Amino acid sequence: MSRYEPVIGLEVHAQLLTNTKAFCSCSTSFGGEPNTQVCPTCLGLPGALPVLNARAVQLAVRAALALGCKLRPHSRFARKNYFYPDLPKGYQISQFDEPFSEGGELMIELETEQMKRVRITRVHMEEDAGKSFHDRGDDSIVDLNRSGVALIEIVGEPDLRSGVEAAEYLRTLREILIFIGVNDGNLEEGSFRCDANVSIRPSGEETLGTRVEIKNINSFKFVQKAIEHEVLRQEAVLESGGRIVHETRGWDDKAGTTFPLRSKESAQDYRYFPEPDLPPLVLDEAFIAQVSASMPELPRDKRTRFVSEYAITSYAAQVLTQHPRVAAFFEETTTLHGDGVKVANFVQSEVLRDVETKGLTATIPIAPKQLTELLNLVDGGKISGKQAKEIYAKVKGTTRLPSEIVKELGMEQVSDVGAIEAVVQRIVDANPKQAESLKGGKIGLMGFFVGQTMKEMGGAANPAVVNAAIKKVLGL
Ligand code: ADP
Ligand code: MG
Ligand code: ZN
Repeated sequence: MSRYEPVIGLEVHAQLLTNTKAFCSCSTSFGGEPNTQVCPTCLGLPGALPVLNARAVQLAVRAALALGCKLRPHSRFARKNYFYPDLPKGYQISQFDEPFSEGGELMIELETEQMKRVRITRVHMEEDAGKSFHDRGDDSIVDLNRSGVALIEIVGEPDLRSGVEAAEYLRTLREILIFIGVNDGNLEEGSFRCDANVSIRPSGEETLGTRVEIKNINSFKFVQKAIEHEVLRQEAVLESGGRIVHETRGWDDKAGTTFPLRSKESAQDYRYFPEPDLPPLVLDEAFIAQVSASMPELPRDKRTRFVSEYAITSYAAQVLTQHPRVAAFFEETTTLHGDGVKVANFVQSEVLRDVETKGLTATIPIAPKQLTELLNLVDGGKISGKQAKEIYAKVKGTTRLPSEIVKELGMEQVSDVGAIEAVVQRIVDANPKQAESLKGGKIGLMGFFVGQTMKEMGGAANPAVVNAAIKKVLGL
């Protein structure tokens, strides 16, 4: 038991899934040639005026409602002033003392299956800065394609107590934002970014310790590792009689350590003041009602409903709701086929390993209609479960129907009772000793007769009918 308790609060920046930027109509698509998606407004040219993107407001409000935040009917934009080459106006439009929403919560599930409530301080809107590159030849490049892209910042209370909890908080938050269509959750492209504030305090102490802010950690694994390392570093500093410096640190994954970026002791003064070029943001009741009414189902609600509506296990529900497209695919197929358990089993054992997801899109190699037909062929005794897997492998990635492939390959399973009984009779006649033993109770010989019958019929016989036929012929 450590003498210190870690305290962690996360700040998450999530890019809103709008086609155009927060205050101009430039495209937000990722990966364009540097500085091709810019205009006087997002370049910060004098005289250009910002106009707020209505879709951005809608998505931001949706996120705040999903996190149980209270909305402020009149909120205000503010200028956050600082100098940096990728910030063309010399300030960032953000929200300061009057954010549009405050006071929410996020429930996270810890490994012990218990839920933990993490308070959300606020969600506010702001714009992104550009990006500097120092790895393209001798010159540094400033790319302003990202300048002015609409973001929300989600500030969490310091309620987290370990790197594991922090990573779980981020996973849960990312999943919610993806399910409600607010953010694509892409950490590598930087559309979901996190800063971790970390401090420690003697166990039992109420007062918070001095925090260190670890900037821009781009994977859940790194968040956990960076926090765990930072906690150990701070413990070592205190144990050796030192004091924690309020600073910003980075994470070096190769070295497995955090390293100082800049000191915060000389507190960065952003000289916040109200943005004079934008009117207050007014959220009226009709607008809020409309956003609430169009709120997609949250992932946890979907899981609970899948279990109760389709009688699948909670584990299956968990797996099938890893991605909104996969969940929709499962539901569409189940609606067509009727039996959620059968659909869930096949999707889990075969389809999922072929699914590729990227942001909000998922490539699923078989259509609900095709999978329904395939499962119906099994249900009707036309093909075996094993054959269904072979046919799936041939159907995937094509628009062909499973029934066509069954015909083409002559796979149709024989369920004709008379035909099967005739074959069984021949095998019994040819193997009188084994037949007697089986009749005498040597039940292990059942497999022998099933095998012989299958062999005779080229593996195409319906196993259930074969079993029944053997029993009938031998009078068992
Ligand atoms: P700043 O802009 O300086 O980072 P914010 O108020 O935006 O300040 O962010 C504060 C973040 O730091 C919140 O997520 C909060 O939970 C966290 N935090 C504040 N104090 C502590 C502390 N002593 N230890 C850990 N986290 C803290
Ligand atoms: Mg911060
Ligand atoms: Zn622009």
